Amino acid sequence: MEIILTADETLTTTYRDLPLADFLGCAPPNRIPPILYKIIDTQVPDKNGRLTFAPYSLRKIEAALLREYKKDDIVVAHPRHIKKFIKENTTIVAVTTMDPLGLGPVTMLFTDGGRLPSYTKIKFTSLIKKIDQYRQAKKLDFKIVVGGPGAWQLEAKEDEMEKLGIDHLIIGETEHQIIEIFKEIEEGSAEKIIYTRGWPSIDEIPTIINPSYKGMIEVMRGCGRGCKFCDPNIRKARFYPLEKIIREVEVNRKAGQTSAWLHSEDIFNYMIEDKRRYHPNEDAVINLFEEVLKRVDYANPTHGNVSGALAAPRILEKVAELNNANIHKWVGIQVGLETASPILIEKIGNNKVKPFDANEWPWVLLNGTYAFNKYFWFPAYTTIVGLPGETEDDEIDTARLIITIREKLREELGEKAHFIVVPLSFVPMGLLRDEEFFDVEEQLTQGRLLHIYHAWRHILWEVEHGFKLMKLGIVSSLFSPLIKLGLRFLLKSIEKWAAKNGLNLKKPLEPMDIKIEKF
Ligand code: SF4
Repeated sequence: MEIILTADETLTTTYRDLPLADFLGCAPPNRIPPILYKIIDTQVPDKNGRLTFAPYSLRKIEAALLREYKKDDIVVAHPRHIKKFIKENTTIVAVTTMDPLGLGPVTMLFTDGGRLPSYTKIKFTSLIKKIDQYRQAKKLDFKIVVGGPGAWQLEAKEDEMEKLGIDHLIIGETEHQIIEIFKEIEEGSAEKIIYTRGWPSIDEIPTIINPSYKGMIEVMRGCGRGCKFCDPNIRKARFYPLEKIIREVEVNRKAGQTSAWLHSEDIFNYMIEDKRRYHPNEDAVINLFEEVLKRVDYANPTHGNVSGALAAPRILEKVAELNNANIHKWVGIQVGLETASPILIEKIGNNKVKPFDANEWPWVLLNGTYAFNKYFWFPAYTTIVGLPGETEDDEIDTARLIITIREKLREELGEKAHFIVVPLSFVPMGLLRDEEFFDVEEQLTQGRLLHIYHAWRHILWEVEHGFKLMKLGIVSSLFSPLIKLGLRFLLKSIEKWAAKNGLNLKKPLEPMDIKIEKF
């Protein structure tokens, strides 16, 4: 095969569809029993070595290349079967990656600031080494090319690229230029690190031709809210028209996929018209779900902003109704909480709070979570530890906010009250790319530790109570004790570390003085 597209195994595993198990990829395997990885690392099936359902980014590149290359020249291969396709005429083996060196925001927190190798790093580097060794053994001269959302990590550590035998790294969105780039690589005239020019327009982004993993399809690219710490912020917001989205839903449906995962940076920004106050285009978002849900049984967004949700709870209500959401069936969404501090959020992501004001941020988070839960939406928040400019009080307030949301929601909503908060390590990206990485090993303070500890303590509570409400498959139910065990182990380690360093985690924290407004 002339061109082989693949991904490392952390992007082709299903982790038995266990809630939260995706985080295992970010952990260092030498701290977790290897048997656990063996048991839950179930891979997407292949058909004669070809991925049946592939990571979405590979499907996009495949579709873009097929504008020029012939179908028989390209394969999207399962990483475990890659050698089967490497032949004399192979010119490029291209690998997409999310976290090649374990420098991602979750990974950095689990790996003592990158000192321990994460599962993502181990899997990526072993795949590249396997390809390179095979190339040498067979005396072939194809090029190893790496791209995808984690490519920046290799750009930051170029020496790793050399060591692994990677010939080219592609940085940026590629669909509008991929043919030109691949031709240059084949001719030997491409740069080692290739920076793409600008972004593809919606018309230049092709529709996928073959099915994507988990029914993932994109509905927009870029964001437009302008948070300084975020990479999608620096890309222009572009919206897919409904017909284009439906074509991709149909590709997946025909392959037997009964659910759709609608990818965006902020679903409440889909087709937004009010670019001053960011009030969602409610009808456009609802119509999107209506049309998708005529074709699949379940559709949920990947990401969204709490302020958009609180500004337009009609979206939450309608989408829940369309999905038949209930106490056993929730609409999941990942939401950026970042910090509880109004002052800090104003400095680094003022538009994130709109149409509300920055000084209302903790109130927006409490009431937004109430709105989510009222309509059976389950927000998985992410916070950032070590943001430039943060104070010790900001960190303590983030811990207090977690406690406040939990207590106030339970009072109001009882068993309908559910959310998790996953703390991430600050990684310099977007407009803050010149700042330093947060180093969990060197820069942990009492406030930061409280933030991390209360976030994970609440996750354990949810695993013991909230996830119990959900109808898990038999396999997931069997494995959830393992997840509880892992979380208890993590909390114990934090407690031990705090005690050793003279930090007090047991001191009761005051809840914040904010109220739920019923609407
Ligand atoms: S709202 Fe989210 S995706 Fe948009 S710029 Fe801010 S952090 Fe990035």
